[in-house]
Amino acid sequence: MNEPRTIEEQYTSAGNADDLTVTSERRTDADVLIASGWTPGLLGGVLMRLHSEWDGAAKKRHMDETEAFLLFSQLKTLLRAVDGVAAWAERKGHKEPRTLANAVLIYWLHDTCQPCSGRGHELIHGTPSLGRACRKCGGSGKRPPPGGELGKAALNMMDRDIQVARSMMRLRLRNTRL
Ligand SMILES: [Zn+2]
Repeated sequence: MNEPRTIEEQYTSAGNADDLTVTSERRTDADVLIASGWTPGLLGGVLMRLHSEWDGAAKKRHMDETEAFLLFSQLKTLLRAVDGVAAWAERKGHKEPRTLANAVLIYWLHDTCQPCSGRGHELIHGTPSLGRACRKCGGSGKRPPPGGELGKAALNMMDRDIQVARSMMRLRLRNTRL
């Protein structure tokens, strides 16, 4: 009963299915990805693979930044994910798109605030109690995202593309059942 739909139609309805606020910003991100040779949802799929690869590799709960970076640089899906985020950043006018992409991706996988190890509070030495809120992260337990506004925009773009990838998977599953 369904005519095969174009990626663009799938993208639009996939976006609508999850979220009624399809903003112009979202369209712009999709356009940027398309112009870079990435169909919407493709980067999201790569990111999901990257995250499960990371989850499989990140056995230690508390890693310092060096340990996290070493592990990060060994991920097989990394290059592809960096390509995608860097292509987006380049079209957004970033001067060092691959540097931004690497920083944003490692943050996305490992955003723990180092001084409080993600607890959000200082430890009171010699006791199991938590002290006042961590001065570095203000209690969030997360370090600040890298790359300023464009770094934050990249993280939002990644989240949205993952949503698109998930919606498209659901659509595909639904269509195969018909
Ligand atoms: Zn902290």
